[in-house]
Amino acid sequence: MFSIITSNTEQTEEVGRVLGSMLEPGDLVCLFGDLGAGKTHFSFGIAQGLQVRDQYITSPTFTFVNEYRGRIPFYHIDLYRLKDPSELESIGFEEYIDSDGATVIEWAEQAEDELPADKLNVYFSDVSENSRELGFFAEGERYEKLLADLKKTIGDKKVIEIK
Ligand code: ADP
Ligand code: MG
Repeated sequence: MFSIITSNTEQTEEVGRVLGSMLEPGDLVCLFGDLGAGKTHFSFGIAQGLQVRDQYITSPTFTFVNEYRGRIPFYHIDLYRLKDPSELESIGFEEYIDSDGATVIEWAEQAEDELPADKLNVYFSDVSENSRELGFFAEGERYEKLLADLKKTIGDKKVIEIK
């Protein structure tokens, strides 16, 4: 577990950008936390880090999934409006997770039982009006390495306070 406090939206995007630049085909990043905690801004940063240029990323509220072309395919899934886990099959949830792209899931708690064992989890919470805590928790060898790299890069950059 490793956590970061960001003091504004740009810093949250910057952390996402650093993570996005490190993602590889097949990677899965699960975002947890309440509305307004910063998940979509973080996802925007990830898209930039993946060199997504073709469109501005918005929260895929009605579609559940937005697909982007970047350095590798980027699948942005938002499960906020999921009513029942049985709906996951119709959106092709497993296919995205097993794909050659990088997948980011907002409101991953909505798919709890369907998530694979190996993944990078990020827990978002409000610290104050403009401050958010991002807690990273890696599951599986690949993600432990990814998280160690992220920690090193962000630590070296000193753009954000690290607890
Ligand atoms: P979510 O996707 O988790 O619902 P969003 O990223 O859409 O959250 O929105 C986060 C909201 O919080 C935005 O209105 C943003 O301006 C605000 N905010 C304030 N401080 C921060 C911060 N440090 N990081 C991210 N967002 C922040
Ligand atoms: Mg969102």
